[in-house]
Amino acid sequence: MRPTFDPFVIPFVAGMTFVLVYCIIGLIRIIFQLPKEDRRKFGRSLINPKSAWKNFKDLCSDCLFHVKIWKRKPLLGYMHSSIAFGWFMIIVIGHFETIAFSPLKDMQLPFFQKLTSNLYMPIFFRFFSEEASTLSAHIYAFLMDFFLMVIISGIVIAVVKKKKPRKVGLKRVTKFGFTEDMVRISLWTIFPIRFLAEASMANIGGGSFLTKFIGFDLLFGGHYNETLSYILWWAYSIDLAIFMTLLPFSRYMHIPAEALLILLRNAGLKTTEPRKGYAVAEIYSCPSCGLCIDVCPMSEVKENYRNTAVYFIRNIRRGRRRRDVKHKTEICLMCGKCIEVCPLGIESLDIKMAQRKKYYYKVKSNFSYLERLQDYKTTGQQAQSSPLDAHNSKILYFAGCMSHLTPKITLAMTKIFEQANENYEFIDKDGSICCGRPMMLTGKVDEAKALIEKNTEMIKNSGAKRLILSCPICYRVFKEEYNLEGIEILHHTQYINELIENEKISVDRSDKRYVYHDPCELGRAFGVYEEPRNIIDNIGLLTQGKSDKDLAVCCGGSIGSLAMTKEERDDITKNSIKDLTLNHPEEIVTACPLCLKTFARLSPIKVKDIAEIVEENLEINEELGIRN
Ligand code: SF4
Ligand code: SF4
Repeated sequence: MRPTFDPFVIPFVAGMTFVLVYCIIGLIRIIFQLPKEDRRKFGRSLINPKSAWKNFKDLCSDCLFHVKIWKRKPLLGYMHSSIAFGWFMIIVIGHFETIAFSPLKDMQLPFFQKLTSNLYMPIFFRFFSEEASTLSAHIYAFLMDFFLMVIISGIVIAVVKKKKPRKVGLKRVTKFGFTEDMVRISLWTIFPIRFLAEASMANIGGGSFLTKFIGFDLLFGGHYNETLSYILWWAYSIDLAIFMTLLPFSRYMHIPAEALLILLRNAGLKTTEPRKGYAVAEIYSCPSCGLCIDVCPMSEVKENYRNTAVYFIRNIRRGRRRRDVKHKTEICLMCGKCIEVCPLGIESLDIKMAQRKKYYYKVKSNFSYLERLQDYKTTGQQAQSSPLDAHNSKILYFAGCMSHLTPKITLAMTKIFEQANENYEFIDKDGSICCGRPMMLTGKVDEAKALIEKNTEMIKNSGAKRLILSCPICYRVFKEEYNLEGIEILHHTQYINELIENEKISVDRSDKRYVYHDPCELGRAFGVYEEPRNIIDNIGLLTQGKSDKDLAVCCGGSIGSLAMTKEERDDITKNSIKDLTLNHPEEIVTACPLCLKTFARLSPIKVKDIAEIVEENLEINEELGIRN
């Protein structure tokens, strides 16, 4: 008769109890930190069958199979999913095996004893069980060995990743401190020790190809050494206890947190406060996988790679000095590349924006045109006499302040409108309107909202049906922050592409080689990838840069960063130009006035806006005769 209890299970039971209590308290705290409406939304989504199904799918694909990592880096995908899925399967199969063969099965035990026994029995089953010779016992033993082997193979890759990151497709991995290293080592050793412990007594507890044949027969030479076996079981239990006790203070807290994040996200919640509720779930969900380090333009400058998203999140999680967090919040270019590659979809920019709201910034702006609108309203004049009267135009053109600093773009757009014979109104011709983005970036949300409200009123009063924008930053703000129902918002790449497809304008084609740079706010933010490429295909030859579309380089000039020096920006710009000119194009084409200005300063070849190359290659309608 095998025993049903041994003191070596105590460390595990204590560690497990601690982590369970910690997680339950943490969960309750997060839920109560959510705004009331968000709590209701969350509750409703849990009982809604549609979102329950989505939760199930996302939990499987993100937490167990790590599908998003597989897509970017297959070897890393295997590493993460082998450990997560393998561990999950060992727990599930282990529980079924325990139900079927546990020595406790037919015993009448007091409730508390039964509860704790059920906690440790599946984990140390081979110690307490006696080998059974039924077919189902062999199948269980085989499956348990199979998933143990899968996990150990994942751990081998994790060790390689740590020592030689380039072998798994990474340039840099996240650097950790003492506690994190301790937890990592305890995790890495749990399963190899389990293998040895199970193998050491596979002649008694049973096993399959891994523990019995490779472990007991080959490794232990078919001999059972009771003392050694006992030491291994103690080591296994203590290792589990160390891991669980330190888990809440390490990145491995992502294991329970990411499941909660998926449920909250699927309920439609977003970050409202930088260190409360939803943001806490996001912060704790980051496993510090480091995928966001290599893609971040800041990594181009050696000293700055510690400002990347993973370090920002880690500093908030650890409650680090406010100055560190502030700097990381302000230096970010807000290019969104980290979010694009993040397997957890952690919206670190939302956390940064919420954090910026807590700081005070002096912003000098001239919004006097808003007062003019107020005058019109108080004197009772009609909306048509507003400064943005569109004279029955169906199209409004909003260039944005950055386009005004690069007048070639507005000039090109004017000619394109005229050549297409469009009835349009250039609403910020005198450059006096702001979309609101600079205010938002400096955390002045209320002021930005007031500005947006006024602009919305003016645009709606114009009676126009379409709003064309030349600046992707404005495009994003108009799309996300404005309520312009009934008015179609287009970036000029989309609009020009439509003009060409509908044959409202024609362009000449040559053999000139262009490379296209996807601006962050147009590409990653809205997936406008095909329209600009179609336009260039109509004008010349499109060459490839090193990376494009969702992984397109950042120009380095972003107004998103409030703290980056000119030298740091220049390093990013130079590196991005190197990537873009990989295949020796004759010109760099972009669709953002800020990217254009930034690249043009340091590029050895010409940099143009897409509207410029269209205007240069317009086939002239003689009747309109607009060519210079
Ligand atoms: S938004 Fe861009 S600059 Fe900021 S952390 Fe992410 S990748 Fe780096
Ligand atoms: S923010 Fe995302 S990509 Fe970066 S380390 Fe965390 S999980 Fe990985």
